[in-house]
Amino acid sequence: MNKPDISRAKSAALYEKAKTYFPGGVNSPVRAFKSVYGTPLFIEKGDGSHIWDADGNEFIDFCCSWGPLILGHNNAAVRNKVTEVMQKGMSFGAPTALENELAELILGNNKFIEKIRFVSSGTEAVMSAIRLARGYTKRDKILKFEGCYHGHSDSLLVKAGSGLVTFGETSSAGVPKAFADETIVVSLNDKKALHEAFEEFEGQIAAVIIEPIPANNGLLLQTKEYLEYLRQICTDNGTMLIFDEVISGFRVGFEGAAAYYGIRPDILTYGKIIGGGLPVGAYGASAEVMDYISPVGSVYQAGTLSGNPVAMAAGIAQLTELLKPGFYDELHAKTAGFVKAIQDFVAERGYRFRVSTIGSIFWFAFTDQDNIATAEDIDPASMTKFKEMHHELINRGIYLGPSGYEVGFISAAHTPADLETTKTAIFDSLDIVFKS
Ligand SMILES: *Cc1c(COP(=O)(O)O)cnc(C)c1O
Repeated sequence: MNKPDISRAKSAALYEKAKTYFPGGVNSPVRAFKSVYGTPLFIEKGDGSHIWDADGNEFIDFCCSWGPLILGHNNAAVRNKVTEVMQKGMSFGAPTALENELAELILGNNKFIEKIRFVSSGTEAVMSAIRLARGYTKRDKILKFEGCYHGHSDSLLVKAGSGLVTFGETSSAGVPKAFADETIVVSLNDKKALHEAFEEFEGQIAAVIIEPIPANNGLLLQTKEYLEYLRQICTDNGTMLIFDEVISGFRVGFEGAAAYYGIRPDILTYGKIIGGGLPVGAYGASAEVMDYISPVGSVYQAGTLSGNPVAMAAGIAQLTELLKPGFYDELHAKTAGFVKAIQDFVAERGYRFRVSTIGSIFWFAFTDQDNIATAEDIDPASMTKFKEMHHELINRGIYLGPSGYEVGFISAAHTPADLETTKTAIFDSLDIVFKS
């Protein structure tokens, strides 16, 4: 260690308390710092690209609340809209004009969906989309990919067993085997496995769900050609294709991965960015498909806080900013420059280290493989190096999500100076990691 560790006395004390209140001291598992050194940092405030912890340490933040904060922390437009709307009450359980306003912003600028339903999380959006696909097709089985995350609903907490095409095995205790038996799991980027699954379960698969830009288990970029194959095989089999765009939606462009690849899925799910930092999820499809949802259709789905006015306000304010001309071009150019500088540095040093990137998403991989496209390509042993890097970066005021399987995000609030500081910290950290 060439630098003293940052002080974490206050965070550590808060964590001790939290452990008496919450399982593992947290309300979502990955926050527990199980895969990196130290105890979780308790965050006190955020502004722009920076966050401050309970001990007063300041960081440039690349976790960005796991993706929602594409404008950075405490954005003035979002904050002002939210505080304005809050003055009039925070929940009615009755429709408000704000729901129409957010729907108009989205539907008016997205050619892939005609109707939408707001829910309160990505998990809920995906769970509802699966039910809709089952209700529409009158089939039960779904197919997912190893290395994609779709929230924590029962049918989707399922991982691959052994073999090319497998029934899933539950990846959490408490998920009935009968649920896992309805979920088929195959590897990403594998046409043969997909083809076999459709042969073996002919006429039974309601939906295929994929993160078109898989970003929850590293960044496993798929080829356009593979995604087109997936679209075609679904069409040929009367199976609905669900793009889970909870991360990629409004991230790689306002219309997400569907527009990026020019592929029309049957159902889309959104979350994260859509709520401007407040809890919002959504799913959408053609009007014909969406009208299978209650109260017009027979597929039931509801929510006490769905379309909550304060959350709608945050979404409206954030998405309005994203629609300004040049927003994504600027963000993507900034990210590309940042990533290239790191790629050039590691190439010159000859380090076994790659940076995958798309839009304003990046992922650090300790490997010399250039195109990592499947979960099996990731060597779990490489995560010890990430753990060292994470520690060095924390000590240099750079905050990444506390796991090497997590991607990083660049927001509109990251300044050139932030990115210069970060590059230097990354170069110094990598030199230490590769020397030890
Ligand atoms: C985050 C995420 C989810 C789950 O969303 P929550 O709001 O955490 O429930 C689902 N799918 C994808 C692709 C995600 O990234």
